[in-house]
Parts: sequence; structure tokens; C-alpha cells
Amino acid sequence: VINFNPGPAGLPLPALERARDELLDFQGSGMSVMEHSHRGKEYEAVHDEAIALLSELTGLPSTHQVLFLTGGASQQFAQVPMNFLTPDTSADYLMTGVWSEKALDEAKYYGKPRVAATTVQPDKHYTRVPRQDELSLDAKAAYVHVTTNNTIYGTQWHTLPDTGPVPLVADMSSDFLWKKMDLSRFGLVYAGAQKNLGPSGVTLVVAQKDFIAKGRKDIPKIFRYSVHAENNSLYNTPPTLAIYLVRNVLAWMKDVGGLGQIEAWNRQKADLLYGALDTHAGFYRAPVERASRSVMNVVFHLPTPELDAAFVADAKRQGMVGLKGHRTAGGIRVSTYNAVTVENVRTLVTFMEHFVKTRG
Ligand code: PLP
Repeated sequence: VINFNPGPAGLPLPALERARDELLDFQGSGMSVMEHSHRGKEYEAVHDEAIALLSELTGLPSTHQVLFLTGGASQQFAQVPMNFLTPDTSADYLMTGVWSEKALDEAKYYGKPRVAATTVQPDKHYTRVPRQDELSLDAKAAYVHVTTNNTIYGTQWHTLPDTGPVPLVADMSSDFLWKKMDLSRFGLVYAGAQKNLGPSGVTLVVAQKDFIAKGRKDIPKIFRYSVHAENNSLYNTPPTLAIYLVRNVLAWMKDVGGLGQIEAWNRQKADLLYGALDTHAGFYRAPVERASRSVMNVVFHLPTPELDAAFVADAKRQGMVGLKGHRTAGGIRVSTYNAVTVENVRTLVTFMEHFVKTRG
């Protein structure tokens, strides 16, 4: 099938084939990688290679560190304020969708988060991200939190907010490594792996070492970034199989030419899809403002909910799955994460054109 699921999403075939071939006998050890000790040399080589590949792909400077945590992005909603806020300090939140709302709600348990911008509409939906001149930032904030890609509404920041000296913290769950990215400008970035990076179960965190060092020391050790950093993400047993699969995906990214190539493919896929939507704008309605259109989640509506449902059902009969929009947004959502090929998107666009002709 062609998998357009929003996450967990498809993985690149070579990464899965490699896992299949090694599943029962990892490097002649007579057992699976998931059966190895996380402190043994076989697993540690995988762990370190995953970190090295991520650092190489992004050109990560030594000021920053890669961590493998658990609990998903949702745990990061809580862990970030737990580490960096006190009951009397504040952080600025840029509100662009359901996930930013959840991040803000968790921060309220630990400090005084402020809404520094919001593009919410009266119907509670979002169709764009804020412009720089719409941000009311507080120079005393502990950090500014941004959701770089809004998986549900299909909006994305194409120019990151300028936060001056205040550290930028980003939820990149649905657009991490979609293109060449300079992670050194962030205080902390987090992403559940299950969209662009691998299976669910591991959360990638890339953080500035100086920022990590500012984290509170009066919280349980398991939630301190500094403890995970000091232990190279081996403070407790990490999700070894998930990290192994992330390693395979990162190795695939390097093999195909790195993030420059991944970005070129992602831009082609988005151009094909938005091109089809714009050509047939009388039938397919794309609610997101052009400047905020997501390259990862392309959202649109057909003229009626019945046609939305027929579109999803017909596509499924032709081997294309995962197209139903989020339950709060309705319509159609095409998630085109890194494992989706340009050819996959061409197949969908051909289907979309045929659908307009027969049902439009
Ligand atoms: N943030 C974004 C942007 C997401 O898309 C999602 C899930 O889809 C989450 C956070 C929540 O992630 P998790 O399920 O890993 O907690």
C-alpha cells in the first residue's frame, strides 16, 4: 500500500528490509538486537552510530547534544516546563494548533506560561502561523515554545520566529529532518520518532548543553535532561529496538544523499499536491493560507463530507491509506513524510484528477 498516515507513518523500505534481515541474528550474535544488553558493545555501537548520523546529517555543533528519551512528544510538553520553569517564572507560547494548546496546558502545572501569539479563529481552528510582527515576546521568558509543523491543521513555520536572546524550544514532531536544518539555533528541539524518523517509542531531543545545564535540580532525576545528557541517554534502559530502527532510517537518509536530497523530494511532493489543489480549487478547498502551507501534511476539503468519505474509500480501494483528516478538522489530510516517495504522490495526484472528472 501507499501509506499517507499522519503517524505512526511509513518507514523507508530499505530501513525495514535491513531490520527484517537482521531481526533474528544481529551481526552473527545469534540473537536479535532487542535481546542485547543496552550496556553491551553491540547495542552501544548502534546507539552511538544513531547519534553520530543525526549529528552528521544536521552538522550539529559540539554545543548541542542528542538525547533519546521516551514518553513521546506529549511527555516533552511537561518535561520542558518541569525543567525550565518555577512557579514564578514564565515562558512564551506561540499558539498554532491543538499540539501547542496541549503544550501550554502542561506548562501551567509548573510556571506561568504566556500566550505570546495565537492564530486561533472563532471556530477554534487555525489556518496560518503568526507573522513576526504579531508576536508579543517577553525578554524575561525562560524560553519561547513553537510547534514548527501543525500536523492536524497542515500549517508550518517557514521562517522561524526571531526570539532574540531567549532560547527557542521547538516541537518538531512532524517536520524534524524534512530538510537541511540548523539545530544550533535552538535551545531544545523534540520530536516523537513516529513520523519522519522511525517507530513510536523513542523521542528525539536535541538540546544546547548550556541550556540543559540551567534545568532544575529539584525534580526527579528521570525527568532531568541533565541526567540523560550526562549518561548519553543510558541512565535507564532506552527503547533499544526503536533506536535501532531510527539508526536504520538515518543511515538511509545518508545513503540517498542526505537532507538536501530529502528536502528536494519533499518540496516536489508538496508542489505536486498543492499544484493539483490550486488547479482544481473549485472542487478541492485548501483552507491554509499559502505562506503557511505545510510541506508535511497537506489538508483539504471536498465540497461535502460525503465526498470526503467517498474520496477516502476510493483511494483505499486503490491501495492508498491514511487519508482521512483528523477528527477535529475533518476533510482529507495527506501526510507526506520522508518515507513517502515522489512517485507515491504522483499516483495520488492522478487519482485526485480522476476523482474531480468523475465526481466533480
Ligand atoms: N506534537 C505534534 C506536532 C504531533 O503531531 C503529535 C502527534 O501527532 C504530538 C505532538 C504528540 O506526540 P506523541 O503522541 O508522541 O506524544
